[in-house]
Amino acid sequence: MLEVKSIQSGKWVGAHVSAAGGVENAPLRAKEIGANAFALFTKNQRQWVAKPLTKDSIKVFKQRCELFGFTAEKILPHDSYLINLGHPEPEKREKSRAAFIDEMERCNQLGLTLLNFHPGSHLKQISEEACLDLIAESINLAHQQVPNVIAVIENTAGQGSNLGWDFAHLAYIIERVEDKARVGVCLDTCHTFAAGYDLSSDQACEATFAEFDRVVGMHFLKAMHINDSKTPLGSRVDRHHSLGEGHIGWSCFDFISQDPRFDHMPLILETIDSERWPQEIVAIRDGRSI
Ligand SMILES: [Zn+2]
Ligand SMILES: [Zn+2]
Repeated sequence: MLEVKSIQSGKWVGAHVSAAGGVENAPLRAKEIGANAFALFTKNQRQWVAKPLTKDSIKVFKQRCELFGFTAEKILPHDSYLINLGHPEPEKREKSRAAFIDEMERCNQLGLTLLNFHPGSHLKQISEEACLDLIAESINLAHQQVPNVIAVIENTAGQGSNLGWDFAHLAYIIERVEDKARVGVCLDTCHTFAAGYDLSSDQACEATFAEFDRVVGMHFLKAMHINDSKTPLGSRVDRHHSLGEGHIGWSCFDFISQDPRFDHMPLILETIDSERWPQEIVAIRDGRSI
């Protein structure tokens, strides 16, 4: 398959790049791999507290993003893995909420408008609905504290007690968020597939995205994570793979590449072999499978 599409591709494709040494290094790394979008952590994702961003770091980050054409809507910051906005225990939930607000504030300082996060887990201590209610409340609280930034809920594979694997969970949260202009969804292809929504053929992709549109609404889709899956359909296990190497296969990535509904949003690789990112980026952006 060497069908080359128009160079006027509306696809914004990149990878989750390292911010080691400072957030200002992320746009350099994105540029190096030929990306026109990228994701990053604005702080160490495995620690609760981080030093505030320095003025210099913010300034250089903004300069480099401008230089390389990375506008805010092409950048998808991801929050810390420690945060659980639906934590059943009040003290731990407070800690998560404070950390989430700090993440949102860091995005705002960097001039960024999206913040990608995993919704949360009930830890088998409260009902799904109670947990989803807490997540929505957490988003509302963050919106009150920080302006401009859109809370972008990522769907999950549904491992353990993680919520957000069922499209209905995403719709339930969004329904309870007061500022609908500041909430959206990031669909991860690996998570979607592991959660039981088939993406392994054109027809399956059509059906899955139609289901997403019916339950959540395509207009809430703000970003995608583009990953193949090491585990089969409905496994509820989150294991990313290089594109075309897993159970999803190339037809899904060709489908996304050719469908204008996925234009003008960050399409972010979190695939396991970063050596392949330059090729994978070209494949998604210009519609050429590898
Ligand atoms: Zn993801
Ligand atoms: Zn994942």
